[in-house]
Amino acid sequence: MTPTLVFYIIIGFIVISFVIDQILDALNVKHFDDPIPQELADVYDEESYRKSQDYKKVNAKFSTRTSSFMLVVTLAFFFADGFAFVDNLARSVSSNEIIVGLIFFGIIMIGSDILTTPFSYYKTFVIEERFGFNKSTPALFFMDKLKGWLMTIIVGGGLLALVIWFYQLSGSSFWLYAWIVFAVFAVVMNMFYAKLIVPLFNKQQPLEEGSLRVKIEQYAATVGFKLNNIFVIDGSKRSTKANAYFSGFGSEKRITLYDTLINDLEEEEIVAVLAHEVGHYQKNHIIINLVTSILLTGFTLWLLGSFISMPIFSEALGVTQPSFHIGLIAFGVLYTPISGITGFLMSLLSRKFEYQADNYAKDTYAGEPLIRSLKKLSRNSLSNLTPHPLYVKLHYSHPTLLQRYRNLKGLK
Ligand SMILES: [Zn+2]
Repeated sequence: MTPTLVFYIIIGFIVISFVIDQILDALNVKHFDDPIPQELADVYDEESYRKSQDYKKVNAKFSTRTSSFMLVVTLAFFFADGFAFVDNLARSVSSNEIIVGLIFFGIIMIGSDILTTPFSYYKTFVIEERFGFNKSTPALFFMDKLKGWLMTIIVGGGLLALVIWFYQLSGSSFWLYAWIVFAVFAVVMNMFYAKLIVPLFNKQQPLEEGSLRVKIEQYAATVGFKLNNIFVIDGSKRSTKANAYFSGFGSEKRITLYDTLINDLEEEEIVAVLAHEVGHYQKNHIIINLVTSILLTGFTLWLLGSFISMPIFSEALGVTQPSFHIGLIAFGVLYTPISGITGFLMSLLSRKFEYQADNYAKDTYAGEPLIRSLKKLSRNSLSNLTPHPLYVKLHYSHPTLLQRYRNLKGLK
């Protein structure tokens, strides 16, 4: 193996994963105009159906343009020895490997953020705006960005510094120490996400008194779920799209309902969605997901540990002095086939869990209101009712509306 060969393997991986994504997108686009399955005929009226067709097409075109642009920039950066340039720049500031690594990734991330921000701005204020979803303002948009940046600097920077330090101390067995830190971090984040991170971006309040609360209380009592764990979040300040999710475990477990969900659905339908979320908890999905992701992190770090000290990866990127941060970049690209497989398996598991949570809601509450709510939520977010099966297998974390409908109706 020569450094040049490794370089072209890296380029090959970038191009192949782009091509696979484009093929999948094209397959999906070809099915945009498929007839709507009869069971879902009542989701759209004629006008909203036309709107949903437009929305899908505009988004598909936008996504192809964005990823093509990013591909060209990425390849240009690789061919122009961009990483060597940034590495030199960082080394001119400090000779401390931790500081060099932090500056290196800092520059790479600022650069990629400058490139991607116009796209996300356009997505929010032109596309989402045009279809009536956007509620955000430029001030809120940039404030979110700023907060995101501060979090990345503090949390991401802190973790990176720690990992490079482990690497300096213990060489390729650094992965074990890094894994312990990441595992503890994952558990803490999972537990306290709602208390630590969400308040930076949203207001959340306990569900207020009223007939909805009474209905939820009655349901919660039948399955032994504590009501003080149900919160309402002001999602409406950014988008009209509705959502609900479960987070945390133990005493920190909670269900978060978007205010948009409460506005869009009838009370019975909201209880059904809530029952679905309780299902995720009762079926231990939260813990299983956490354990799986910790194991997967361990595997990735272990693999990184056996790659990182090989100088050939640094040389492939035109850098003579091997370092943790350059090795990490090469590894990141070469890992894509594996992350493709693990991503596929994780979304398979996730779709399985969605069926289980739906079944739980059906068994402990009722199937019909859940079907009605899923249909309404699909209409209000203009979702695609006819995605390509392969696209679903690789990209969908939830089964399609039709699959969930059939499952809830016992039609499998
Ligand atoms: Zn779910």
